[in-house]
Amino acid sequence: MIVVLRQDTKPEQMDNLKAWLHSMGLETHVSVGHNHTIVGLVGDTSKIDIDLVGSLDIVESVRRIQEPFKNANRKFHGEALVVDVAGTKIGGGNFQIIAGPCSVESREQVCYVAECVKKSGAGLLRGGAFKPRTSPYAFQGLKGEGIELLEEAKAHTGLPIVSEIMNITHLPMFEHVDLIQVGARNMQNFDLLRELGKTNKPILLKRGLANTIDEWLMSAEYIMAGGNENVILCERGIRTFETRTRNTLDLSVIPVLKKLTHLPVIIDPSHALGYAHMVKPMAMAATAAGADGLMIEVHNDPPHALCDGAQSLTPEAFDDVAKAVFQLRPFACKYE
Ligand code: PEP
Ligand code: MN
Repeated sequence: MIVVLRQDTKPEQMDNLKAWLHSMGLETHVSVGHNHTIVGLVGDTSKIDIDLVGSLDIVESVRRIQEPFKNANRKFHGEALVVDVAGTKIGGGNFQIIAGPCSVESREQVCYVAECVKKSGAGLLRGGAFKPRTSPYAFQGLKGEGIELLEEAKAHTGLPIVSEIMNITHLPMFEHVDLIQVGARNMQNFDLLRELGKTNKPILLKRGLANTIDEWLMSAEYIMAGGNENVILCERGIRTFETRTRNTLDLSVIPVLKKLTHLPVIIDPSHALGYAHMVKPMAMAATAAGADGLMIEVHNDPPHALCDGAQSLTPEAFDDVAKAVFQLRPFACKYE
């Protein structure tokens, strides 16, 4: 971090500033120029409140040299992270499609969809059991029973399972869930993130509806600071002024995140676009841009789905998308 002081800073004010910074375990290097005095801070500046430093009378400006996220920072990790989800690898050149219904509705539904998506090449099965719905009157998910049905589909197909957690008190029910999803609405539920950091489960962290990439990485940092390094980031569209799509898919996160972090990045075109016919072009675009995977909603009977039917693909439509994506994969943008 670099602090530029105002020209009229008095020596005793500078000494006070230095003493304060030293008390926080930082070293200071002062360089006095003709017009400005610059204080360089050396050490762990991640705990420093940059706005507080900037608000001091004697400070003209302050700038971070290093990002405030350490564990999620590419600079401190040579290799791209490969997350092992019950033997299925994501990241570092391993590409996976996570597919399945928005919500688990019945044994027949989830087992049938699981079989279909597996045949089409999906590597993981998704299914919501605890659903964060905008309306309290909408279907809220089958909860514990939904998780059990997902486990049955896993036993049936061998596909690792992915499901969203909304409340940390539900964690015991997720014992056999292989990849725990933190949904967009909980991206900044810091207590939840901190607790998940104490588990050894891989976490799929979705981007919040209106969160910046830096805020998203700081949320990953919450999980990782607790000792759980296995975080996968999932872009699912952000809120903009556009109304023709459910959200706006921000594919630019792929090159941006590939520079900033070693964590795998996957794209969810279903929640981003909101309409089934828009999923294929964006799944292909995300693949071409070098995503480490995709999350796609698939339902046996979309018009009668209890949640997100409009954006759900039929198994046949999913098969077509998966074929196109796998054909495109060898030509995808590579980072390193
Ligand atoms: C979901 O994956 O079903 C879901 C609710 O996603 P999001 O948190 O991205 O809205
Ligand atoms: Mn959904």
